[in-house]
Amino acid sequence: MEKQYLAQSSEKQMQEFWESSRIHSADQNPGPLFAVDTPPPTISGNLHIGHIFSYTQTDIVARYKRMDGFSVFYPFGFDDNGLATERFVEKKLEISAHKLSRSEFIKRCLQVSHEAEAEFKKLWQAMGLSVDWNNCYSTIAPNVRKLSQESFVELYKKGFVYRKNEPALYCAQCRTSVAQAELEDVEKDSFLNDIVFTDSDGNKLVVATTRPELLYSVVALLYNPDDVRYMHLRNKKAHVPIYGYEVPIFSDEQVIIEKGTGLVMVSTFGDKTDIEWFKKFKLPYRPSLGLDGKWTEQTGIVAGLNAHQARERILKELSEKGLLLRQAPIKHSVNVHERCKKEIEYMMLAQWFLAILDHKKKFLELGEQINWYPTHMKVRYQNWVENLSWDWCLSRQRFYGIPFPVWHCKGCNAVIVADKKQLPIDPQETPYKGVCPACGSREIVPDTDVMDTWNTSSITPYICYDMYNPHTESVFDDAAKKGFIPMGMRPQAHDIIRTWAFYTIVKAWMHNGIIPWSNIVISGHVLSDAKEKISKSRGNDMRTPQKLLEQYPADALRYWTASGALGTDVSFSEAQIKIGMRLITKLWNAFRFINEHVSLFDAKTVTPSDFGTVNEWLLHQITQTFVKYQGYLERYEFSLALDSVEHFFWHDFCDNYLELVKDQLFHPENYKTDMVNATRWTLYHAGLRLLQLYAPYLPHLTDVLYSAIYKDSESSISIHQTKFSTYQVSYDFAAGAQLMDKVIHIITQVRKLKTEKQISLKTPVKELLITGSSAVVLNDIGTQESLIKGVTQAHALTMRSGTGVQSIQQKGDEWYVAVHVE
Ligand SMILES: [Zn+2]
Ligand SMILES: [Zn+2]
Repeated sequence: MEKQYLAQSSEKQMQEFWESSRIHSADQNPGPLFAVDTPPPTISGNLHIGHIFSYTQTDIVARYKRMDGFSVFYPFGFDDNGLATERFVEKKLEISAHKLSRSEFIKRCLQVSHEAEAEFKKLWQAMGLSVDWNNCYSTIAPNVRKLSQESFVELYKKGFVYRKNEPALYCAQCRTSVAQAELEDVEKDSFLNDIVFTDSDGNKLVVATTRPELLYSVVALLYNPDDVRYMHLRNKKAHVPIYGYEVPIFSDEQVIIEKGTGLVMVSTFGDKTDIEWFKKFKLPYRPSLGLDGKWTEQTGIVAGLNAHQARERILKELSEKGLLLRQAPIKHSVNVHERCKKEIEYMMLAQWFLAILDHKKKFLELGEQINWYPTHMKVRYQNWVENLSWDWCLSRQRFYGIPFPVWHCKGCNAVIVADKKQLPIDPQETPYKGVCPACGSREIVPDTDVMDTWNTSSITPYICYDMYNPHTESVFDDAAKKGFIPMGMRPQAHDIIRTWAFYTIVKAWMHNGIIPWSNIVISGHVLSDAKEKISKSRGNDMRTPQKLLEQYPADALRYWTASGALGTDVSFSEAQIKIGMRLITKLWNAFRFINEHVSLFDAKTVTPSDFGTVNEWLLHQITQTFVKYQGYLERYEFSLALDSVEHFFWHDFCDNYLELVKDQLFHPENYKTDMVNATRWTLYHAGLRLLQLYAPYLPHLTDVLYSAIYKDSESSISIHQTKFSTYQVSYDFAAGAQLMDKVIHIITQVRKLKTEKQISLKTPVKELLITGSSAVVLNDIGTQESLIKGVTQAHALTMRSGTGVQSIQQKGDEWYVAVHVE
């Protein structure tokens, strides 16, 4: 072993060895299946530090499970079929989807996704993820398109999917309908405008509105039935300013008397209540907004303008006519599209919906059947389900996505769904052959929308099964029948509980009536700290994953990711990476020491019949450590598990054990051969056990050490294929361990006293006086006399019962030390 660990070259070598030997693939690691539903990252931007954080945390769990005896199926995927990717491509190539032909644009998207995915993969390989890269999917690939369409067809047949001309959430910026899960609430400054309408008798009616640009779309005025100011308006009509047409006046309990003037205008559509009133009073549909985000021809003076311009123009017109009485500044919460941050509009479009509102209770029950880590994350899921108010709109009016496998009959509006055998299909490329089965018409047109990208990512368990068992006939039946679903684990971030987690639960229930995975493990995000905000441009640049990997070993970066408690957002911490560096050096040195002393030792040596108290103590401690470690990792508390190994390694192993056995190892001639052999045996096995415990966290270093010291004498070619059941043998030496704790207490006290006097720890002690609380204690300690004398360099040991003091004194050239033990 080299004096220094050459991290850069060693890590690279290890990664190549793992890849070529397929160390991590499920078929190389027999056992019960543990399948990981890896989050497919969205191809929507550059790599950042967050990309290595949560993925490494998942890898720690995967590596742990593999050593715990599971056949871990750990695939990977890329989500590259949605609006996020479109936007990324438009920005990167400085093009607009609307200005290219559809096929040309899709070609560019595929090319950019392909390049970005290669970059992503390189990074994760460099971080040492134990993913099986032979099982890698892309959500735009033909097999996934097929599954996504198949899911649609099956759920359509089961009656969960319906098509309706419904008011839906619409983003005028992205020119597509969106789902409730894609909305964000934002506080915005606005004005409440008092606008003058008139009643049939020419009396003024003052209406307060935040959306004057929708004046053309006004279809009614409303007041609260208890509002005495307006009761006389019952059954009357109002005259809309500028546009000069009449609308009915109704009363409704939902109108808040105290808000504005208590008189509200209903337009199609200004907000969600407008939609409720539209349905309740069967109002006409008078849209202002066109699909292109511009105000339509019919809106006259504001035709061709966007929402903001239209508002300014209408207000100017009203003001000039003396019909704008007042503008009160307000702050209110509005819905914006999470992708582009533009305010959400409402639009009537024929859309595909998945019926979810009817099954809220079921979804809450399913949430209870899944183990949530950390547990409080379940509340977020429950809140989301309870607050659902829209069915899931699946239609998107975009280009780069998975099309609906559907044609429409122009004659009778019948929906013609593609046969499963035809999938994947793009109905815009493949015309429907034949006539409408309902009316015989030959005028059949393709559906031109694409599916919400979550329609595909919500079936990742099925996509994974398709890779796990590529010969299956019917993925949606088999995945559950063969026990692949529920999967072992879904790792994901907390901000997509309402989308990815929720939709996956919905789909698994609709397809198979079960939960998609038994455990969901929620990671936090990496926050930028205050310092970074100050020097943002420079700071961000320094912290790209690539730059960090040039500077630090992947194992040190992994050490930082493991320090974050599960589900908690953490700051990037270079200090933590440096602690990881120190650990790597300390481990390297400790294992060089082990190597030196076990190289003469035959690993096949039988387990000693008598370990001796020191070795018993170490074996007892490492057993206890493993129990804690396993307890934590079973609850996905990887940072606490690491803490327990750290405590054992630094404190028990390095500070105490190695100090206690050093003399035996350097001067074996002074000890009984059996004793020295027992110590070598213990050193060898404790080292092996330690490597296993650190392996999920520092996979490169531990495997380098394993191959240097253990590979030749053990049966596995990599530490990552060893099992805990082989090496983490349980030892219970409680009595010996208790005694050693006392001995270590004595030794620690002597060390401390010497350090206080600033003398070397090797300084001989003329007499060490130990006072003890009882004769029994002293009697026990007496059995370890030679050990205590050896480590403390004491010539003589005196023991006396009673209360004692701790002291160190120099008489002439000689030192006298006194310590107490309970
Ligand atoms: Zn948008
Ligand atoms: Zn027809």
